[in-house]
Amino acid sequence: MAIELGTVSERKEVVVGIDLGTTHSLAAHVRWDGPRVIRDRQGRKWVPSVVAIDEGGSPVVGQDAQARALTNPRGTVTSVKRFMGKGIEDLGEDPSRLPYRVVSGGEAGLVRIEIGGQLYTPQEISALVLKEVKRRVEQVSGLPVRRAVITVPAYFDDAQRQATRDAGRLAGLEVLRIVNEPTAAALAYGLHRKQKSVIVVYDLGGGTFDVSVLRLSEGVFKVLSTAGNTRLGGDDFDYAVVDLLLEGVDAPRRAALGEDPLALHALKVAGERAKIALSAEESTRVQMDLAGSGIAIDREVDRATLEAAIGPLVEDTFRHVRFALNDADLDVGDVDEVVLVGGSTRIPLVRRRVEEVFGKKPHVEIDPDEVVALGAAVQAEQLTAGRQEALLLDVTPLSLGIETYGGGASKLIHRNTSIPCRASEGFTTSVDHQTSVEVHILQGEREMARDLRSLGRFRLRGIPPMSAGLPRVLVEFAIDANGILKVSAREMVSGALASIEVRPSYGLTDTEVEAMISAGMEHAQEDFEAHMLADLKVEAATVVRYARKALRDHGARVADEARAGIEAAIAGVEEAAAGEDRGRLHDAIDALNQATHPIAEEMMNEVLRVTVTGRTVDDVLEGKDSGMKARDVTLG
Ligand code: ADP
Ligand code: MG
Repeated sequence: MAIELGTVSERKEVVVGIDLGTTHSLAAHVRWDGPRVIRDRQGRKWVPSVVAIDEGGSPVVGQDAQARALTNPRGTVTSVKRFMGKGIEDLGEDPSRLPYRVVSGGEAGLVRIEIGGQLYTPQEISALVLKEVKRRVEQVSGLPVRRAVITVPAYFDDAQRQATRDAGRLAGLEVLRIVNEPTAAALAYGLHRKQKSVIVVYDLGGGTFDVSVLRLSEGVFKVLSTAGNTRLGGDDFDYAVVDLLLEGVDAPRRAALGEDPLALHALKVAGERAKIALSAEESTRVQMDLAGSGIAIDREVDRATLEAAIGPLVEDTFRHVRFALNDADLDVGDVDEVVLVGGSTRIPLVRRRVEEVFGKKPHVEIDPDEVVALGAAVQAEQLTAGRQEALLLDVTPLSLGIETYGGGASKLIHRNTSIPCRASEGFTTSVDHQTSVEVHILQGEREMARDLRSLGRFRLRGIPPMSAGLPRVLVEFAIDANGILKVSAREMVSGALASIEVRPSYGLTDTEVEAMISAGMEHAQEDFEAHMLADLKVEAATVVRYARKALRDHGARVADEARAGIEAAIAGVEEAAAGEDRGRLHDAIDALNQATHPIAEEMMNEVLRVTVTGRTVDDVLEGKDSGMKARDVTLG
């Protein structure tokens, strides 16, 4: 049964929101009576995210492809979302264990899937899924689908978002925006119409858990933080049930199971069925005969037993919840709304624990399978109808910056900054007559370049030869609404310009993103100390340089003891700068500033005198910091 498409006929097209999922995808649109998921002619809302390529090289997508996964596993691609924007090394699993062939190909070793001697990119496979979604909506509505909002997990990096965008383009869609799944969920609940609130989106799906903290204030909707575990979800609950089912099965039979993938698959399916049944019933019976492995199962499983088995996994999600709240500088008590997303939030234990942890009932009114697509539809409507009710702001999951002289890193955009965003900072050279500088783009939470992930580098050439410290290089980072990063560098004197759009050749595994964030927290204190000390040492060198120059040029005008005091203070700074005691170095710099006071006064007088005689202040103070940071871009 098809759902009427309401107002679309007036628009001559259907603008959709698409939840492009790991296991299945679905589309929604906004009707006169609100957002609705679009069902196809057979009444199906899902397009399974599965693509099979037949002998002749023609693709089959969705339910039909799913059926072939059993008969033609080598020609059937499932869960392609995991490969979007990634290299083989980033998969975090052995590609030879996948049913289909995955190879490293194309520019920079991105994942390619080989079927029947043909290579496909993950974007191409995803595009086939999107095309099928588009086709079904067009068929049921009789109208073209040209524009769409597509959702991605909050932890997707630039490369993964770009790959998703490309998939949309390949499918013949204009991608209006890439939106984070949790952001879409909050929109589906219409929470953007509230005055002011703090919203937690708790998304427990099949393979992953994601939590996001959003703040709504004065019509502006903003993601404050995100956290999660990419290896925790309903699949783990299924395996917990399988363990229960296998209780009492002896070791040799269990070992035989390991050799029997079909039996393992059957067990997993039975485990999932029992789990789902226990969301509605107190008890369920599982009977199965795994002839090949000599295992016969007939077991009653009750809800309390399931809850005891999955309890620790469910509790683990709250560790991430606290982590996200902490990141947003909030307590559980500050949370006004909790939104549940993902099929696994139907589990009564999950709902109960969420309510206990937050001390309030979560939103469960909207089907947790549909809520993301519905929110994407709301966003698509806002973007096309020009009704800008809320400004959608997402965040960048990891900090971004560049390498600076001495191997430190300067962060231009901090993690969890709302996007789109833009930041710039001035840098300079460290060697005389340097005509080019290398801009090395880094990602992560540590303070030193060696501890960060390299996203790419480029060289700004054509800098006119000048003394070190004089060129002024303005580096700008801009992240657009889709999370694509553009980095540009301009030398302000000559106007020389270079830029790149960062599409990291390798995406990060989700586990790595988590590891990078926690490494930043783990080393926060030591990194902070190291960076502060490094900065103070740079400052010390600058202060000493100016003091020496002042002594040379104007020393004759001050008393002997003042001069001796400055010399001693310089020695004090140099000694302290050789050590690791930040407090001591700080005091030494203060002392030097004090000691140079008399000479500074003399210099001011000099300035006044020479200004009168027609020289500029800049001539006199030549070499003085011209507003740049006393940090230098790394040479290369
Ligand atoms: P994903 O977004 O990761 O593809 P979904 O949000 O679609 O996943 O959730 C799928 C998971 O939800 C599966 O593990 C499925 O077993 C589980 N699930 C679906 N319905 C129920 C239910 N009624 N009770 C418990 N788990 C459920
Ligand atoms: Mg999901």
